[in-house]
Amino acid sequence: MAGDVVGERRFVTEPERWHAGTVRRPVNPGSDLVVVGAGAAGLFACLSAAEQGARTTLVSARPLAETASYWAQGGLAAALAVDDSPELHLQDTLAAGRDLVRRSAAEVLTDEAPARFHELEALGVRFDADRHGNLALGLEGGHKTRRVVHAGGSATGRRILRQLSANVAEHPSIEVLEDARAARLITHEGRCAGVVLEDGRTLTGRGTVLATGGAAALWSRTTNPPGSFGSGLLLARDAGAALADLEFAQFHPTAVVGIEGREGFLISEAIRGEGATLHDGRGERFVDELAPRDAVARAIFRVLNEQGLTAVMLDMRHVDPGRFPNVVAALREAGLDPATELVPVAPASHYVMGGIVTDLDGRSEIPGLYAVGECACTGLHGANRLASNSLSECFVFGRRAALHALDEPAPGETPATSTGTVAPPPTRETRKAMWRHAGLERDAEGLRPLLEDPHPLARLVARSALFREESRGAHGRSDFPATDPALDHRHTVLKAGSDTPEYLLWR
Ligand SMILES: Cc1cc2nc3c(=O)[nH]c(=O)nc-3n(C[C@H](O)[C@H](O)[C@H](O)COP(=O)(O)OP(=O)(O)OC[C@H]3O[C@@H](n4cnc5c(N)ncnc54)[C@H](O)[C@@H]3O)c2cc1C
Repeated sequence: MAGDVVGERRFVTEPERWHAGTVRRPVNPGSDLVVVGAGAAGLFACLSAAEQGARTTLVSARPLAETASYWAQGGLAAALAVDDSPELHLQDTLAAGRDLVRRSAAEVLTDEAPARFHELEALGVRFDADRHGNLALGLEGGHKTRRVVHAGGSATGRRILRQLSANVAEHPSIEVLEDARAARLITHEGRCAGVVLEDGRTLTGRGTVLATGGAAALWSRTTNPPGSFGSGLLLARDAGAALADLEFAQFHPTAVVGIEGREGFLISEAIRGEGATLHDGRGERFVDELAPRDAVARAIFRVLNEQGLTAVMLDMRHVDPGRFPNVVAALREAGLDPATELVPVAPASHYVMGGIVTDLDGRSEIPGLYAVGECACTGLHGANRLASNSLSECFVFGRRAALHALDEPAPGETPATSTGTVAPPPTRETRKAMWRHAGLERDAEGLRPLLEDPHPLARLVARSALFREESRGAHGRSDFPATDPALDHRHTVLKAGSDTPEYLLWR
């Protein structure tokens, strides 16, 4: 999109067109895109749009250090090695996803991840090199080859976010509204025209991109920051978008247990990729540490129950502490030296595969509304996300959505709308109930009371989990332990306004 054309189109929203009382004057006149969320997906979407000459308004509710992206450790997956290929990356993604991955979405991810990696480098992100100066590639669970790039060892998210947010802050055509929370989407004549903030300000654009992150903090034991409770999913649903696959919540196998100040702290899979091993109460190994996440998490869960333990032990004493400086420093600060001691770990809620239904360009079912990153559900992760595919997803689909959103028509006059109310965070009781009844193993008896939970997303998760009467990937039903082949590639969709899920076949 050429700059002049963008400029001409922008005149549609000239200030004199806004009449107090009948239409609402946006605080961002002339913006092409409104992006909600300043994690990896939101920042990259902004930069991708700005590179096309577009003007973007970025809204972020929480500080940078409270995004899941900032906390990401392991890295991002891309077929970059000479003996690797997008096809091999695709095969690993399909295998991890347990016959539920939407192949077309996985093809987009695995084909485009290498190009996005090179763009990140061009934007100034410095990825780790080995001692010969070649790109260092890590191995993680479910990957059959080394393809995970990282920065600062296990400080990948922090390094990427610092760089991207600096680029965003310096960019003359990106306006950032910090400490601002989207409370409602503006829909007019069947299209999304922007958002209303909690304080009543409105933002409009030809496209609105939700990049509000995941919902793993709905569960009490989690690796996620407290803001990850799915507020974007509820915004989209209230406006009439469909949600899907909410029963698929991934539990990371190795989060710290019982160390004060570090409860739920994630010990990256990459550390197991470098040789760390898991041991039961008798000191014995009990699982292939590099199996996909659902298999490792479930094996730990079984050992905990059978042996009456609260944690299994991760032995990383033979792993070079210099490779993972922030994990080692965090544990040492809390009084445990992983170079000489075993680390107590157990599964914790980590990532929700489900989210706002989108196509391969990030389009939701509401024209003008896009969703990217963890809040979106393209079907890419199926029933079990392959490690380090989510950062790649943020960049691949963040860019696709931004570029397509710029082709939307400019918003017309939008009538004044009432201020929205932000979805409240889940209470302690909700989070505990989710952990107890919608955890690694669920059954109908435990899930049914959650249908009455005060938190709307908890109810929708319970509905979806009750509906899927089988076990598959991250969704383990103790009352339906087998996988039902008839449900292969069938996604659990909650259509607009409906509380009754239905299965839709996605390819
Ligand atoms: C500890 C940890 C380690 C991880 N390690 C890896 C890894 O190594 N590799 C990998 O691929 N993935 C990893 N993940 C997962 C990955 O980090 C996330 O899936 C991804 O970063 C999500 O990015 P996002 O941009 O979608 O959301 P986030 O980074 O969570 O950002 C969401 C943004 O939305 C904002 N927001 C939310 N609601 C509103 C609202 N209503 N109004 C305004 N703003 C709002 C938030 O303030 C925030 O800015 C890890 C996750 C965690 C928690």
